[in-house]
Amino acid sequence: MAMEKGNTEGTARKPGTAGESGREVPATESVDFIRAIVIEDLKNGKNGGRVMTRFPPEPNGYLHIGHAKSICLNFGIAAEFGGVCNLRYDDTNPTKEEVEYVESIQEDVRWLGFDWQDRLYYASDYFDKLYDYAVQLVKAGKAYVDSLSADQIREHRGTLTEPGKQSPYRNRSIEENLDLFERMRAGEFEDGAHVLRAKIDMASPNFNMRDPTLYRIRRVPHHRTGDRWCIYPMYDFAHSLSDAIEGITHSICTLEFEDHRPLYDWCQENLPVPFRSRQIEFARLNLNYTVMSKRKLLELVQQGLISGWDDPRLPTIGGLRRRGYTPEAIRAFCERIGVAKRDNVVDVALLEHAVREDLNRRALRVMGVLRPIRLVIDNYPEDQVEQLEAVNNPEDASAGTRKVPFSRDLYIEREDFNENPPKKFYRLAPGRAVRLRYGYVITCVNVVKDEKTGEPLGLHCTYDPDSLHTSGDGQKVKATLHWVSAAHSIPAEVRLYDRLFVSPDPGADGRDFKADLNPNSLEVLKTCRVEPSLAGARPGARYQFERQGYFCVDPDSTADHLVFNRTVSLRDAWAKIEKAQQK
Ligand code: ATP
Ligand code: MG
Repeated sequence: MAMEKGNTEGTARKPGTAGESGREVPATESVDFIRAIVIEDLKNGKNGGRVMTRFPPEPNGYLHIGHAKSICLNFGIAAEFGGVCNLRYDDTNPTKEEVEYVESIQEDVRWLGFDWQDRLYYASDYFDKLYDYAVQLVKAGKAYVDSLSADQIREHRGTLTEPGKQSPYRNRSIEENLDLFERMRAGEFEDGAHVLRAKIDMASPNFNMRDPTLYRIRRVPHHRTGDRWCIYPMYDFAHSLSDAIEGITHSICTLEFEDHRPLYDWCQENLPVPFRSRQIEFARLNLNYTVMSKRKLLELVQQGLISGWDDPRLPTIGGLRRRGYTPEAIRAFCERIGVAKRDNVVDVALLEHAVREDLNRRALRVMGVLRPIRLVIDNYPEDQVEQLEAVNNPEDASAGTRKVPFSRDLYIEREDFNENPPKKFYRLAPGRAVRLRYGYVITCVNVVKDEKTGEPLGLHCTYDPDSLHTSGDGQKVKATLHWVSAAHSIPAEVRLYDRLFVSPDPGADGRDFKADLNPNSLEVLKTCRVEPSLAGARPGARYQFERQGYFCVDPDSTADHLVFNRTVSLRDAWAKIEKAQQK
């Protein structure tokens, strides 16, 4: 797979000519290949000028960023071309599906900013129709009940170079097939005793066409149909016919279904369906340093290796939301990576870039000290408190200003002080002056140290009373530090996240993907101090902690215990310099 920073086979959209429908449609050469197909269909008056897509999740897990790509594509295309997009659960596998997932999926789609209006469907709503369709195939001699075991069916399937072998049951009479299929439905047989198969071609070069299974016996209740059914349709059959029943014009799916398209078409061609849909495949989103398969995500959740489906380190929509991602950032990311016809891996840094860009525009700036060290300004009056004016968002004048209390006793970031500053360390050091953000220029005059370890415990400084709002008046000040007033600030817990995996391709070369988990993906800081304006901040509220990154209030917060997640750091210039120096 090629590593690409957003593969776009043309995503910029410029206005083009009006289509047959009179609607303004863009020129085909400026859009991705799926939109080009839709435009072409509109021009040709196909589907009566109608565009209908669907997002078809299987409710067997939470949605992730890959699904977001599919959601943006399906709902996005519908919206752009005056069409609609259905939300349809592909709930044909009752053993793995749960109501919890059904609910979370709707919450996530809505949160991403999309609306299926009254078109919420379930493949299970069509179980009666699908059964009727299957009966029609049997009556037409195009499906039969096979009584081979699953293993035998596999053995009969052949290989890439050898054709499959016909089942001895392939030529059962229509009457016998109808009788057996009816009895399968009535619950007369155990799981695996029989299956219904399409009678297509055991010699087809495409495995999916070698008499694929259409129905299997599963004597388990379904989360919607209860125990009404003990046979369930297979995905390919159910999906193709659900699309036809709903009148889906463009059935957009990921590349692994390309080989299933002949079967998708076969189902619609061999039954009197109300509509013929077109399946179009695109490359799924892959991100480095993470896993997206629901099976793997479930494993992490079930083994307690993370806190749950919404652990902020996960690429799930719930995880990203809790981490502080905005729907706008996720949509911008999906737009940016575009739609391709071949597989690629997108750098997770691009996702981080999207959220930085969005939060830079709208997050309020505040000051929070993550690893505090006490700083006393010796010549500042002991009982004095000044309310310094701070800008809420330099990117947005309408965000206004706020007052931040300043006093003699402060906290600054421990790492902003260095007793023996190396070259290019411009922050606080003995004898050195720096500016405090929105405040004065201070000079470090003394360091209080732990007698045993020599570790700095506190700093003494003096301030220049005339330096407020001036550029330091002749003093050489190369750094501006964030701070909080010790007495006024409030305590907070901050959770810093790193990538969940140390490898760009977890589990590559056949090793267990869990072996690649990053043991340092979560760092919890319990002694942080944040400015008082954050008191009462609501879960979900997002801020930029100046110089530290973007943070979001976690739902674990209570009235007297604030918890923040770091969404993403700001670009760290110092870390780069440090690295360069090490080299
Ligand atoms: P997973 O492989 O993670 O278990 P899935 O494909 O089984 O996912 P579904 O619930 O069947 O999950 O997916 C719903 C829709 O989302 C499908 O149309 C599928 O093609 C699409 N989709 C799933 N993963 C991705 C991805 N990584 N990139 C783009 N689309 C995706
Ligand atoms: Mg699937």
